[in-house]
Amino acid sequence: MRGVLLYAPGDVRVEDREVPAIVEPTDAILKVAAACVCGSDLWPYRGLEDVDGPAPMGHEYVGTVEEVGGAVHGVAVGDFVVGSFFASDNTCEICRAGYQTHCVRRQPGAATGAQSQYVRVPLADGTLVATPGQPGPELIPSLLAASDVLGTGWFGAVAAEVGPGKTVAVVGDGAVGLLGVLAAKQLGAERIIVFSRHADRQALAREFGATDVVAERGDEGVARIKELTGGLGAHSVIEAVGTQESMLQAIRSTRPGGHVGYVGVSHDVSLPGQELFFSGVHLHGGPAPVRRFLPELIRLIWEREIDPGRVFDLTLPLEQAAEAYRAMDERRAIKVLLTTD
Ligand SMILES: [Zn+2]
Repeated sequence: MRGVLLYAPGDVRVEDREVPAIVEPTDAILKVAAACVCGSDLWPYRGLEDVDGPAPMGHEYVGTVEEVGGAVHGVAVGDFVVGSFFASDNTCEICRAGYQTHCVRRQPGAATGAQSQYVRVPLADGTLVATPGQPGPELIPSLLAASDVLGTGWFGAVAAEVGPGKTVAVVGDGAVGLLGVLAAKQLGAERIIVFSRHADRQALAREFGATDVVAERGDEGVARIKELTGGLGAHSVIEAVGTQESMLQAIRSTRPGGHVGYVGVSHDVSLPGQELFFSGVHLHGGPAPVRRFLPELIRLIWEREIDPGRVFDLTLPLEQAAEAYRAMDERRAIKVLLTTD
């Protein structure tokens, strides 16, 4: 099979790799229907995270079950399934509380790399959710989005306690931030303000339900949010970047008693204790327990109530993965879908 390997920062190659085999009886092997590049793949690509190359890449996946281990009973060969970037048993106490990304048996969901034609998924019964039938090709991008960016944006909204009547601000206009907007809309937010400086992303944010766009950042951005909220700040803020600047943007845009849901993978963030102490803001976040939301997200996609696949604004064959990384790194694309056949 063909698969993507990251050798070193900036060095993405597509090579012949062995088709993964069942290792544990709880494993499943999927034939990948479509793959994609994640914003978090850009951290090692940019050299901001260590690369132990050649490293198999990709953790977002949808596909058809090709083979299952002897202990798998929840999904069967031929099922079309969606999974998450962490595998979970979905039975331990932490999973049952809805925090499957912190499962006591947690391990990488796409153990062998999802930017490839086949992938091995551990703990298949707890990790994979089958769709009601075989999806048409038009549904594949949205189901793939559910695997990570939609589930992550959704968790950001839930962690920020988004609900009817609330004003929500979203820091970050990448795929996760944009789908945080979509989630906030679905969860009944009254007003949704997105921080964005890019016309194409602003337009998609508005399609997903954003009511206001703020181009300013830092203190000026905070001042704009205050202006829009009677001087108080937003009730709920989704942080979808993961930098020092974005975290402070989120905390300072939230009213006392309000909630920040932070889902941007944190890099070198260090919070000022005294400011936090006096902010009166709730902070909750981390790696999204996408598995918690998958049944509902699949239902919304299947019934055409949401179209999160709109975040894919460039489609390339797997062979051109290096160009896919470049396009996202240079912000020429919001998110790139890689076809695998
Ligand atoms: Zn568990």
